[in-house]
Amino acid sequence: MERLKHKIRDIPDFPKPGIVFKDITPLVKDPSALRLAVHQLLHPFLGRDITAVAGMEARGFIFGALVAWELGVPFIPLRKPGKLPYDVQSVSYDLEYGSAELEVHIDAVDQNDKVLLIDDLLATGGTAKASCELIEKLGASVVACAFVVELDFLAGRELLKGYEVHALVHY
Ligand code: 5GP
Repeated sequence: MERLKHKIRDIPDFPKPGIVFKDITPLVKDPSALRLAVHQLLHPFLGRDITAVAGMEARGFIFGALVAWELGVPFIPLRKPGKLPYDVQSVSYDLEYGSAELEVHIDAVDQNDKVLLIDDLLATGGTAKASCELIEKLGASVVACAFVVELDFLAGRELLKGYEVHALVHY
């Protein structure tokens, strides 16, 4: 996946001093790199029983919607609070400083659904773990979580123990 790695750039001190942000915009700017990323994300799941793809706001929408489109299944947006217009289920989770929340429409999925979760990047795993819980609150099951980038040194995979985890580029 060196081709994809070349398209991810480091932005030092973003969003705050000491953090090196992995910027995926050069990757999504390159149509062949984007196509490669989407196909590699969904490859392990071809032929598997997946009825929906969920993506986390905001960069999970880019990759998640394309994976859903390729698989021919619905795309479910998991959004930051106050953005969804209909009745919602929500989950809150801890960040390094403070907490965050994600919401989903209550009729987005049901107990018959088998969901593939997609985000751009796995760091501590807090966002993905909360997303799994949110899907499960609606009675659906999580088949796997797939990411373009995994920051191995933050051990997000540990937090997602019990879930299948797939990532394309590792740091
Ligand atoms: P976690 O909850 O695993 O600590 O953080 C992952 C979430 O934060 C993902 O939704 C991801 O989009 C965002 N995120 C955290 N750090 C980065 C980064 O360096 N680059 C990008 N593109 N997203 C990040």
